[in-house]
Amino acid sequence: MTFDQLEWLEAQARMLEPGAADRENWTSKAAQYGSAFIDGLPEGKTYLPDQDRGRALASLPFGEEGRGIDEVLEAIHLGVNSSGINPASGGHLGYVPGGGVFPSALGDYLAAVTNRYAGIFFANPGAVRMENDLIRWMCQLVGYPEGALGNLASGGSIANLIAITTARDYFQVKSASIPLLTIYLTSQVHHCVQKAIRIAGLGEAQIRYIPLDEQFRMQPGALQQAIDSDKSCGLIPFLVVASAGTTDTGAVDPLDEIADIAGKERIWYHVDAAYGGFFTLVEALRPTFKGIERSDSVAIDPHKGLFLPYGLGAVLIRNVEAQFKAHHYMGNYMQDAFGPEQEVSPADLSPELTKHFRGLRMWLPLQLLGLAPFRAALQEKVLLCRYFYEKVQALGFQTGPYPDLSIMIFRYAPSGKDANAFNEALVRYVQGDGRVFLSSTTIGDTYWIRLAVLSFRTHKREIDLCLDILRQGVTYLG
Ligand SMILES: *Cc1c(COP(=O)(O)O)cnc(C)c1O
Repeated sequence: MTFDQLEWLEAQARMLEPGAADRENWTSKAAQYGSAFIDGLPEGKTYLPDQDRGRALASLPFGEEGRGIDEVLEAIHLGVNSSGINPASGGHLGYVPGGGVFPSALGDYLAAVTNRYAGIFFANPGAVRMENDLIRWMCQLVGYPEGALGNLASGGSIANLIAITTARDYFQVKSASIPLLTIYLTSQVHHCVQKAIRIAGLGEAQIRYIPLDEQFRMQPGALQQAIDSDKSCGLIPFLVVASAGTTDTGAVDPLDEIADIAGKERIWYHVDAAYGGFFTLVEALRPTFKGIERSDSVAIDPHKGLFLPYGLGAVLIRNVEAQFKAHHYMGNYMQDAFGPEQEVSPADLSPELTKHFRGLRMWLPLQLLGLAPFRAALQEKVLLCRYFYEKVQALGFQTGPYPDLSIMIFRYAPSGKDANAFNEALVRYVQGDGRVFLSSTTIGDTYWIRLAVLSFRTHKREIDLCLDILRQGVTYLG
C-alpha cells in the first residue's frame, strides 16, 4: 500500500457518496415501489406458499460492481415480497399481525440518512429525549407514576428480557440461591418469557404454572396457594408474570388481584402486555387493565398495538434505578461521554450501546397522524373480533371464551368426523385460498383456529371475507 494509491482509492470510495441525481433516482424508484406495493394490497394475497424459496435473490451474488436500482428492486420483489405471509395485508388474521403505518417508513428513512446516535445523551440529547418522551408517554398510558422509564427495544422478547434481568438484579440474586427461587406463570404465557428466564441465567429457578380459569386467565387464589406452599418449603417467591392479552386467546389475567398478592408477598410483578398494552388507549377497555399500574414492569409492543413496522417493542419499568443498576456499565473509551446529564441514556437501561434510532419511527406517526386514529383503530379491532365471534357462531362454529380484546379461538364440530383433523384441514383450506391468513393453536388436546385482528388495514370487509372463506371451506370439506 502506497500513498499514491489514494487518488484512485478516493475515486472508488466516493461511490459510497452518490450525488443528488443518483439519490433522487433511487429514492423515487424505491418510493414508487412502496406506493405500488401499498396500492396492491387490497387485491393481493395475504398468503402465498413460497414456491421460489428466495431463489430470485440467489441469482444476485455480491460482486465488485454495483447493479441498477430496477434490477435490485425486481429481485426484492420476486425474492422477498411475492411469497410467504404478507403482514402488511389487512387479511393477516393469524399469529399477532404486525403493522407498518407509512410515516414510520419516513422515520426510518430520516433516522438512517441523518444517522443520529441515540444510545447516549451526550451524543444526541434530542434523540435520547425523544425516545424517553415516548417511553414516558407509554408509562402514563399504563398509569405509572412520574419517574418511571424503560427502554425502546427491538421487540417484546427483548423487552421481557430487560424486565426479568432487572428483577433478578433488584433482588441481588446469587447463583447458589437460584434453585430456591420460584417464578409464577401460566401455561398461556408467551414462550419468550421462558426463554428470557433462561437467558437471564434463571433456568434453574422453580417455575410454577398457575391453573387457569375457564377464560384461560390466571387464578389468583391458586397463585396465593402456590406461594404459601412454596414458602412453607423454604423456597423464595421472586417473580410473577401476568399476561395482558395472551397470544392464544387474547385473555387478560386479573391484573389487580395479582397486584394485591405480589404487593403483599413483595415479589416482582411483571406484566407482558406486548400484544394487548395499547388497548389502554381505548377508554372503554381501561377497566380490563385495572391493576397494570401497580406492576413493577410492563412489556408493550408498538410494532403490534401501535401498528408500527417490525422492530419496536418497549419495556416500562417503575424503578428506573433498578433498571440502571442492572444494565449500566462504563468503558474507558467512553470517558468523554459523561457530563451533567438531564436524561438517562438508553445504553444504561438495556444491553445495547449503539442502536437503531428507533424512536423516530414511532414519534413521526404519532405527530403526523395524532392519537385519535390509533384509538379508533384499536376500538375497531375489538369490535371486529366481537362481530366475528357472533357471526362465526351463526355459521355453526364453536367458540372459545368471549374475547377480552381482539383475539379469539373457534372450531368446527363436524358430525361423525375427527374434529381436530377437520379443523386442521380447514386451516389448510383457508391458507390455500390465501386471501386471508388464519393460524391455529392447541390448548390441552384441542385444536383451535385463532382469529387475531390487529392489522390497521383490517376492516369489516376483511372479516366478512374471512367468514365467507370459512363457510366455503366447511362446505368443501363437509
Ligand atoms: C408477540 C408477543 C411477545 C414477543 O414479542 P416479539 O416482539 O415478537 O419479540 C411476547 N409476549 C406476547 C404476549 C406477545 O404477543
